[in-house]
Parts: sequence; C-alpha cells; structure tokens
Amino acid sequence: MTENKRITILGVPVDLIDKEAAMARFEELFPQPGVTAVYTPNSEIVENASHDPALKELINSAELIIPDGIGLVYASRFVGHPLKERVTGIDFLESIIAYLADHGKSIYFFGSKPGVAEKAAEKIREKYPALRVAGTHDGYFKPEEEPAIVEQINDSGADFLCVALGAPKQEKFIYDHKEELKVHGAIGVGGSLDVWSGDLKRAPEFYQKHGLEWLYRFLQQPARIGRVMKLPVFMLKVMFQGRSQEGLS
Ligand code: UDP
Repeated sequence: MTENKRITILGVPVDLIDKEAAMARFEELFPQPGVTAVYTPNSEIVENASHDPALKELINSAELIIPDGIGLVYASRFVGHPLKERVTGIDFLESIIAYLADHGKSIYFFGSKPGVAEKAAEKIREKYPALRVAGTHDGYFKPEEEPAIVEQINDSGADFLCVALGAPKQEKFIYDHKEELKVHGAIGVGGSLDVWSGDLKRAPEFYQKHGLEWLYRFLQQPARIGRVMKLPVFMLKVMFQGRSQEGLS
C-alpha cells in the first residue's frame, strides 16, 4: 500500500496530494477495516488549528487530509513542498459518490438545515441513479442526541458517511465516534449539501479557475467577513514564520 506524504503548514498537517492520487488512496483505504476519515481543511481551518493543539491532533488522525483551498496551495509553495492543485471538498465528495455508485455501496448524509440533506440526496441520485442512500439527518441537534444519531447511522447499514456540520464540528464528530461507527469511511464537507440541494450557488467557473471561490462565497454571504479576513492573516503568518518550521513526513 502507498503512503501519503504529509507536509505541515503553520505546523498543521496536510497531505501532499492531488485529486487523482487522493482518490487512488481512498480506494485503497476504504475496503480496509475501520473508518477511513477524510478531512478537507482550508486555510481558515489550518490557521485555527495552528494555535489549537487539540484540533491539530484531531486533523492529524485522519487517513486523508485534502488541501481544500488556494491559500494552502500558495502556502505550500512558500514552505518548499508545492501542492500541485487544490482539491475542493465538494469535488472530492463527488468522486467518492461516483465510486460508491459504481461499487453498489451506500451513503448516509448527515448535516445542514432540516430538509437540505434530503433535497441534496435527491439531486445527487438524479446524477448518480445507482447510488444507494441509506439515510439522512439534519445537522441541528443537542449534544445529548448525538449517541442516538450514531445509532441511526449504524442501523442504516451505510457504507459511507458524509458529515456537513461545518468545521471543526464535522471533524470532531467523526473523530469522537470513529470507534463506534460501522461505516468504512467518512468525510467532512462543510456547505456541500447546501450546494447540492440548490440552496447555495456554487461559484461560476471563472471564480473556481482563478482560486476565487472564497470571494464569491463572501459576496453571497457578506456576514462571512470575519472568516474571509483570516485568509490574509494566514498568508502573512506563513510568510513570517518561514520555511524553517515546516517539513515533510
Ligand atoms: N451546520 C450544521 N449544524 C451546525 C452548524 C452548521 O448542520 O450546528 C451546517 C450548515 O447548515 C451548513 C454547513 O454546516 O450547511 C456548513 O457551514 P459553513 O458554510 O459554515 O461551512 P464551511 O464549508 O465554510 O466549513
């Protein structure tokens, strides 16, 4: 089995991987026993994790850490271990869905506002009719309801779990329940179900091609200003902290 090379950016691990290699690695890991955890951090999460050792550890525990964001690609060049491309969570989720559909496997959609996961599942099945949807659950629940949700996911018999609770809630959910979950893989995907359901528009190709999806999302949701401002903070930190701290493992 191949090993993924892992670099660190601001001390936070990210896999030195492109989309094709990430998918090949997923296909190797998914049939193995246990949960293959896939996290898709962007520069905002990496910045948050850089001063949160517990979050850093949690990210490091994932089998695949996909670089979701142009900020990480620029930062990787700066630290001397260039990433070939960014791999967005929503695109990687779609590759996983295509794989599951081809292999007769099922998926459980967990997260987003009530009704969104069902609507997203419907739209996804229009594109991938062979996909088996084992169940859905919205992402607004009390902490004491969590064990019952894990039980529902397990009872559904799903092979794969898609968690859309926003970061780092979704990563924490996967991490906290990795031992009890019976699925073979799980991914944290942020707002992807909102896009699939049609509730949120994905950036037009121009923005995607030029790494400006963050700008489009900001224009759609100006309340995200605080989060958008983390991008320049992240880049400045990468530039000032330099290459010395970063490495390859
Ligand atoms: N969300 C959720 N439960 C929560 C908080 C958020 O299900 O307690 C959902 C929210 O409805 C949205 C998704 O998490 O569909 C991602 O939110 P956000 O856009 O903040 O995530 P990002 O993609 O930026 O990480």
